[in-house]
Amino acid sequence: MSEGAEKVVVIGSGIAGLTAAIYTARANLSPLVLEGDEPGGQLSLTSEVENYPGFIEGINGFDLVQNMRQQAERFGARYEGGRVERLIPGTPHRLELDDGRTLEAHSVIIATGATARWPGLPREREYIGHGVSTCATCDGAFYRDLKVAVLGGGDSALEEALFLTRFATEVHLIHRRDSLRASKIMQKRAFDEPKIKFHWNTAVESIVGEPEEGLTGLRLKDIVTGEQEDLQVDGFFIAIGHVPNTQFVQGVLDLDDQGYLKEGIVTHVAGVFAAGDVRDHVYRQAVTAAGMGCQAALEAERWLAASSLG
Ligand code: NAP
Repeated sequence: MSEGAEKVVVIGSGIAGLTAAIYTARANLSPLVLEGDEPGGQLSLTSEVENYPGFIEGINGFDLVQNMRQQAERFGARYEGGRVERLIPGTPHRLELDDGRTLEAHSVIIATGATARWPGLPREREYIGHGVSTCATCDGAFYRDLKVAVLGGGDSALEEALFLTRFATEVHLIHRRDSLRASKIMQKRAFDEPKIKFHWNTAVESIVGEPEEGLTGLRLKDIVTGEQEDLQVDGFFIAIGHVPNTQFVQGVLDLDDQGYLKEGIVTHVAGVFAAGDVRDHVYRQAVTAAGMGCQAALEAERWLAASSLG
């Protein structure tokens, strides 16, 4: 047995990771949570969460995550920055971090979630902070009395668009098909909102402007007719789904063709568990992520006890 090895390392600090931290901390396992590049995960970038059980009026996503973080801390969870670049299975497992450190852990709970997908437009990332964003909650207030566009047709896109109506004078929803993927309740809210203008069967060809000065608009293309037009906007919010954060376990755990973990909560590597969006491209809800975080923690606890490590 390695002396310096952690009993439990939780990789990721979204809802799944924090729930795993609450449970393993309450089991006296003193989990170390590696918070990663996006502490708090996707939910900390959301505005109101209306469907997490127990909150009659909903709860702000950031507040929910902060509450969970402190709840785990109360029972002895510890937090560190750092992104895991490689998981090397063994006894104990080794985790190579981007800051050069290597950690050892008897059990590992992978809760690294998924990160915003980008459309692949020329120079798109150079416009971050200059008019292009993947987070309306973070950046929406910069667009008071201005015009913005949102790309996507799912719940995220409509949530972003509806949130942006608090600030912007016009919100242009650009979607590549003629019907939305979003839930009916979100569709109704968006259709009822006069500030939201829908551009159906439309793709963004390019961002108009220079990154240094900020964008001035978008070049749109009608996918059916091929016609192009320039839309003048001051901000462009991208909401076209997510890519799972599984690069660090490539070749170690089974992944599907989109990169999601094709493993159970108990993975095929002894002592390695997985929870949340990193292994779920179907439900992707805060409450399902929390449920999986709990399951992963209980499984880790049992595994450590059975291995006389816990
Ligand atoms: P999503 O449901 O996968 O929707 C992604 C949208 O982006 C789709 O409309 C898709 O078009 C479009 N898209 C994908 N790639 C594109 C590209 N390269 N160029 C242009 N458009 C592209 O993702 P999401 O909206 O992030 O939602 C993820 C999950 O979280 C869902 O289960 C959702 O219900 C849930 N969620 C729930 C809430 C809520 O309940 N309030 C809020 C946010 C998210 P197509 O439709 O043509 O495929």
